[in-house]
Amino acid sequence: MLDAVVVGAGFAGLYMLHRLRGLGLSVRVFETGKGVGGTWYWNRYPGARCDVESMDYSYSFSDELQQEWRWTERYSAQPEILKYINHVADRFDLRRDIQFETRVASAVFDEATHRWTIQTDRDDRVSARFCIMATGCLSDAQVPDFEGLATFAGKWYHTGRWPHEGVDFTGRRVAVIGTGSSAIQSIPIIAKQAAHVFVFQRTPNYSMPAQNAPLDPGYEREVKANYAEFRRQARESRVGFVVDRSGDSALAVPPDERRREYEKRWARGGLGFSAAYTDILTSQDANDTAAEFFRAKIRSIVHDPALADRLCPTDYPLGTKRLCVDTGYYATFNRDNVTLADVRKAPIEAITARGVRTREAEYAVDAIVFATGFDAMTGALLNINIRGRAGLTLQDAWAAGPRTYLGIAVAGFPNLFTITGPGSPSVLSNMIVSIEQHVDWIADCLASLRANGHAAIEATAEAQEAWVAHVNEVGHTTLYPRAKSWYMGANIPGKPRIFMPYIGGVGVYREKCDEVAARGYEGFALTA
Ligand code: FAD
Ligand code: NAP
Repeated sequence: MLDAVVVGAGFAGLYMLHRLRGLGLSVRVFETGKGVGGTWYWNRYPGARCDVESMDYSYSFSDELQQEWRWTERYSAQPEILKYINHVADRFDLRRDIQFETRVASAVFDEATHRWTIQTDRDDRVSARFCIMATGCLSDAQVPDFEGLATFAGKWYHTGRWPHEGVDFTGRRVAVIGTGSSAIQSIPIIAKQAAHVFVFQRTPNYSMPAQNAPLDPGYEREVKANYAEFRRQARESRVGFVVDRSGDSALAVPPDERRREYEKRWARGGLGFSAAYTDILTSQDANDTAAEFFRAKIRSIVHDPALADRLCPTDYPLGTKRLCVDTGYYATFNRDNVTLADVRKAPIEAITARGVRTREAEYAVDAIVFATGFDAMTGALLNINIRGRAGLTLQDAWAAGPRTYLGIAVAGFPNLFTITGPGSPSVLSNMIVSIEQHVDWIADCLASLRANGHAAIEATAEAQEAWVAHVNEVGHTTLYPRAKSWYMGANIPGKPRIFMPYIGGVGVYREKCDEVAARGYEGFALTA
């Protein structure tokens, strides 16, 4: 009999465990992987690194931790982030409550006892008052259902399930399928090693140079001297880190001035480009000015004009798929050993014993890298057989797309929480900020329930409907729904097309959540 089960041992699950322990609750964490780290445990592909700067992309809950830890680069690479998460697990003695190599298969709510029964693929069966999903927004890796994959004579990999021992591509012909963030980070490195790389592109992406570099010691000192204030500003910002945000419309400034602004941001690198003007993500005309700047950059980097054209995104607004952050991506196409295959024009028909066959040609390769992404935001949750009141399954409750209250709770599923669930800022933010905010809110909620003698908390259907409507309304004031993105569920055949994250801003959203708590958990029903 536990107070809480937490599913997942990434950034979210670890901090949740730490907070619940602090409340004196009994907790068990179940994690499919053999170690902690979540995203950073699984995504070990060459070039994997964060796209939010490390001084931001790190926990803020312990001042000792943030003062003593030293990042070596502006954007840390996966091994360093994984080392950091392992350090956190050790420093806060978290491992003793984590059961690794154990997948949670089902979670069933008992209305008589207000408890969850959680079952795993290892035949554990535990009862817990609260069930907290820290299963990750980007953890359910997807390999498209290509005909013939089983016949492929070479080796294949998914970026989100990369072998721990690494992969040596020396002398090999490699197909990379996909041109999202994972592909854009890995292709330049694979191309330096492999005999030949064939990049299968369906949709070109907008990618910013990272301008990565060793972490400037002066900057590190400055941030550490003011870390509390630095974090406060991040929490109150729109996206969970402070970007230089202009108050002007892109259309209100002369073209020369606008170009200078875009050049300045390109030279600085990283995310934050779309904050150059207030209307880049809300006005197609404003967006076109930024997109045209990107296309000109691509044409200035890629020597072959026809190839440059094929790398230029044209059919969706800049920023409405997550902006990528790269090191040398476009320039990689100037190499003799890199070929771009346009699978929009000639789709992949099958994987054969020899390689990848499109409508136009067969590409013989020794290895295939699927950089094909994830069933984002809902995949990991719906993989678990979650049953709430009256046997209602989450699959049924979300058949037309995810519906939540604040992205943290679901009507009909009492005492269940979803950290960075759909309907919260999550993937539109520095996720560590959003994770810490949800974890703190949930921990405070559990403390309040205990103090007031409540056995259960459940989002009301009315509050949920109002929140879903608000999330949709705000989403549709932007250009985001115009892209076939994973934010919209568009990367998964048959998935409902709904703009899943909340785009109202991290600071605004935090205020809303705090207000709900301050009003005695407004929009929730509490049971004694
Ligand atoms: P995860 O790290 O995904 O952890 C979830 C864990 O739950 C996984 O370990 C999984 O194995 C486990 N799990 C899932 N289902 C079950 C189950 N049924 N039973 C048991 N265990 C289960 N965000 C940013 O803000 N900045 C970045 O720079 C950034 N870079 C990224 C780079 C990559 C390659 C990817 C894929 C994502 C990136 N993200 C980034 C998003 C990233 O996912 C989050 O920042 C953060 O790491 C999520 O932490 P989490 O604990 O919520 O989820
Ligand atoms: P992704 O953005 O979903 O990209 C997947 C790619 O695979 C897309 O180019 C997609 O094309 C292509 N694809 C999928 N199915 C295909 C098919 N059947 N045929 C041909 N092409 C297909 O996935 P990701 O690159 O792993 O990134 C996911 C998210 O994780 C990112 O958006 C980001 O939030 C995070 N991430 C961050 C970083 C970082 O820089 N720190 C790195 C990696 C990931 P379409 O676009 O046409 O669908």
